[in-house]
Amino acid sequence: MAEVVLDKVNKLYENGFHAVHDLSIDIADGEFIVLVGPSGCGKSTALRMIAGLEDISTGTLSIDDRVVNTLSSRERDIAMVFQSYALYPHMSVADNIAYGLKIRRMEKSEIQARVKRAADMLELGPLLDRKPKQLSGGQRQRVAMGRAIVREPKVFLMDEPLSNLDAKLRVQMRAEIGQVQRDLNVTTIYVTHDQTEAMTMGDRVALMKAGVLQQLGAPQHLYDNPDNIFVAGFIGSPPMNMALATVDRASRGVTVSMGGAEVTVPETVTSARPALASYAGRQVAIGLRSEDMEDASLARDGGNRATLSTTVSLTEALGSEIVVHFPVDAPRVVTEDTKALEEDAGTEDIPTTTAGNTWVASFSPRSRVRPGDTVQIALDAERLHYFDPDTGLAIR
Ligand code: ATP
Repeated sequence: MAEVVLDKVNKLYENGFHAVHDLSIDIADGEFIVLVGPSGCGKSTALRMIAGLEDISTGTLSIDDRVVNTLSSRERDIAMVFQSYALYPHMSVADNIAYGLKIRRMEKSEIQARVKRAADMLELGPLLDRKPKQLSGGQRQRVAMGRAIVREPKVFLMDEPLSNLDAKLRVQMRAEIGQVQRDLNVTTIYVTHDQTEAMTMGDRVALMKAGVLQQLGAPQHLYDNPDNIFVAGFIGSPPMNMALATVDRASRGVTVSMGGAEVTVPETVTSARPALASYAGRQVAIGLRSEDMEDASLARDGGNRATLSTTVSLTEALGSEIVVHFPVDAPRVVTEDTKALEEDAGTEDIPTTTAGNTWVASFSPRSRVRPGDTVQIALDAERLHYFDPDTGLAIR
């Protein structure tokens, strides 16, 4: 059993920098939780506080109902896997895996049994006599995992363990770490800046920005029900399309006008989001994911659709889909959140005006659109997201 509970945990560094604000998360026994967010959001600081490598300024950290704030790393019974594997170059794979047990003076037969179990699980059996320099990057990462596994800790902590691997290996190791975690059923806290890792690996995801938890939940829940503009833009690739739109109260419910398209908000949506009607006569930020649009000439009838007319600026044929870029005649959303998202994406000129909004749609490969074509785009009105343009919070 290892339930990990953070209750209003704060980190104030000595220079006064407040890196983590009131972080509260209940992590269930056996759960795989991912702390994700852009560089500098405080996720590593949070993990290091859980590990006992960094003092907790205020708040409590409990493992199995026991407050562990003042316990050393070793007393907390956790094992950590870092981005740099830090293997001992002169030792064999087997000795690297066994090292932590040897210094704990564990019996030789028990060490051998544990190393064998871990090596079988990680398919390292044939490599046990090799030295680290005779291994590929992925194999080295597996040795680092092996070293953590043999400890049989209560909790695994992983800080960007895949960031030194190439893209293909990352995908493979993602699946392997997930499998090992499920086999061992050890509570795991995994830090990454990569939203794909968060989406694919976590039972739940905790998304942080500037030291503050933005949303905590199952990956699909964050994708489908983002609490604010930052979550909407961070989770998902390509990021959610956004624009400013005006809301009107029509005779039957609410309409939203955006870029020449008028969307009658379906009753299913207005009843689920009663606050939307109170925005009548005002602006809202709307969001729509690329897969919720289609080439209108191919779109199936039915459903609640609105149509947008535009000129295609760019297409990317990926085989399974065509990614279509097009301008929308509706202002761009510019908030602190969108600036933080652009910064995270490495955009050189971060947009500060609402002009020049471009959206991305994911069309079926049967679409024949080319750059320069005028196209009718069908928007799925049921799938629109609504946010307050000032606070960035979802309108519900
Ligand atoms: P990255 O993905 O870049 O590692 P992160 O989200 O893990 O980012 P942290 O390493 O937790 O971020 O750092 C959070 C913030 O705290 C950053 O702004 C960082 O500059 C600051 N910080 C980290 N260590 C210290 C320190 N010892 N003293 C003061 N500020 C620090």
